[in-house]
Amino acid sequence: MESARNNDVIVVGAGVLGLTTALVLAERGIRVRVWTRDPVEATTSAVAGALWWPYRIEPVARARAWALQSLDVYEELAARPESTGVRMVEGVLGEADLDRAEAWAAARVPGLRASTTEEYAGRGLWARLPLIDMSTHLPWLRERLVKAGGVVEERTVADFADVDAPVVVNCTGLGARSLVPDASVRPVRGQLVVVENPGIRTWLTSTGVDGEMACFFPQPGRLLLGGTAEEDAWSLEPDPAVASAIVRRCAALRPEIAGARVLEHRVGLRPTRDAVRLEGEVLPDGRVLVHNYGHGGAGVTVAWGCAGEAAGLACPAA
Ligand SMILES: Cc1cc2nc3c(=O)[nH]c(=O)nc-3n(C[C@H](O)[C@H](O)[C@H](O)COP(=O)(O)OP(=O)(O)OC[C@H]3O[C@@H](n4cnc5c(N)ncnc54)[C@H](O)[C@@H]3O)c2cc1C
Repeated sequence: MESARNNDVIVVGAGVLGLTTALVLAERGIRVRVWTRDPVEATTSAVAGALWWPYRIEPVARARAWALQSLDVYEELAARPESTGVRMVEGVLGEADLDRAEAWAAARVPGLRASTTEEYAGRGLWARLPLIDMSTHLPWLRERLVKAGGVVEERTVADFADVDAPVVVNCTGLGARSLVPDASVRPVRGQLVVVENPGIRTWLTSTGVDGEMACFFPQPGRLLLGGTAEEDAWSLEPDPAVASAIVRRCAALRPEIAGARVLEHRVGLRPTRDAVRLEGEVLPDGRVLVHNYGHGGAGVTVAWGCAGEAAGLACPAA
């Protein structure tokens, strides 16, 4: 019979991927500890907007499958928005088209249709999608994990050999670059401006009036404005010129945004890779290491699908 010790898993990373993976394991009866370099609230996941829709993630077909699995969970969580931070909110996906790339979603997303010209001046899709308030969702995930018996500890890992568990799950996002090491994980920098909400109830993603990304997401008590996607940029300092340009682009779409009071600036580095790394390997000492990183601009969107797959690799019998 396996000893209790042999059921232990350590998940490295407490962003959305680490917490969901740990939670799935804990709710399957596995003893889980999460080790994280940063507090949960200081992860990249805490910066996200966060709309359920695949963006800057590869491979596309797998990402869509993970996204649809995650959609089932988010729809359930949206029944309790105050505690989970998940709400179903309507909005427009600009420059999207049902007949082409977005047909994959049409069968599953109720009410997905072409937007009207009143809703959006260009070609777009009107959709009701999960919009996740990460300032509520991440603490909720942590709390549910703790209730399921999991433990979250602030510890930095320099080498997987130092992680004392028979099964280790690597959910370190961009941290995998030095920890694995895997130079193919690269940052795609994103900057957001958080403003007082001037009364906007729907979200919008668009390539903007000047061909540059513009998006806004209404969250409780505030409106998040985006965005940028700068490849291989590492600075976590908000750039004031970039912030002004974001406000200007969003205000070109919704003029009331122009006068909104700025509450906060946010920057995050999307952990981007040619393909999400979701696979297991056996370490030289015989222990199992499962990788679950490189989710680019869609880690929240695919989190539950990836967590289920990673948990299956970590503990196939559970
Ligand atoms: C501006 C912006 C907007 C975004 N909007 C969306 C959106 O609308 N929808 C969406 O789905 N996605 C969005 N994303 C992408 C999403 O935020 C990421 O894909 C996701 O957060 C990645 O999660 P993660 O858990 O892999 O990484 P992270 O959240 O970065 O977590 C990594 C964890 O690993 C830990 N760690 C790293 N190295 C070590 C180490 N050596 N030892 C111990 N711990 C370590 C860190 O401390 C942290 O806990 C956005 C991102 C940005 C920047």
